[in-house]
Amino acid sequence: MKCPFCGHTEDRVVDSRVGREGEFIRRRRECLKCHRRYTTYEYIEDVLPHVEKRDGRREPFDRQKLRNSILKACEKRSVAVQKVDDIVAQIEAQLHERSEKEIKWNELGELVMEHLKKLDQVAYVRFASVYRQFQDVSQFSDTVNQLKGLLKDDKAKPAAVKPRPLAARTTTK
Ligand SMILES: [Zn+2]
Repeated sequence: MKCPFCGHTEDRVVDSRVGREGEFIRRRRECLKCHRRYTTYEYIEDVLPHVEKRDGRREPFDRQKLRNSILKACEKRSVAVQKVDDIVAQIEAQLHERSEKEIKWNELGELVMEHLKKLDQVAYVRFASVYRQFQDVSQFSDTVNQLKGLLKDDKAKPAAVKPRPLAARTTTK
């Protein structure tokens, strides 16, 4: 950072805060040369790590995606949306504190689980079952094969057989 008063490029951060919606990080800095203080804002997209996905590809951290996956785990539970937003903001703050350029998808998942565990046990188990399901490659191919099998079965069924309604599907208790 360049000091707006004297142009010196070294400073120390005296305080950092994440904005209420997690959209920016406000930092108070002190110039190491003239010791005057100034404030900078960094927007989350610029500072949050990229997520390394299962297949090794990287994508920018996606706040909405994270929020949706947590909301889904909390479906029909008495969890206030505000609590979910709090978790998202806390995770963003944690990611920011790590100040690493990348995070692995499973590390991010573990972070979410830590928070859900404290919030709601059912949501925690749901999230964990979805999230941990594909950690093992052999499990993944098993599941894909099962899916393929199901699809074939569906096609083979005579038209008279009524498909099971969505609501009848098993949910994790
Ligand atoms: Zn200065």
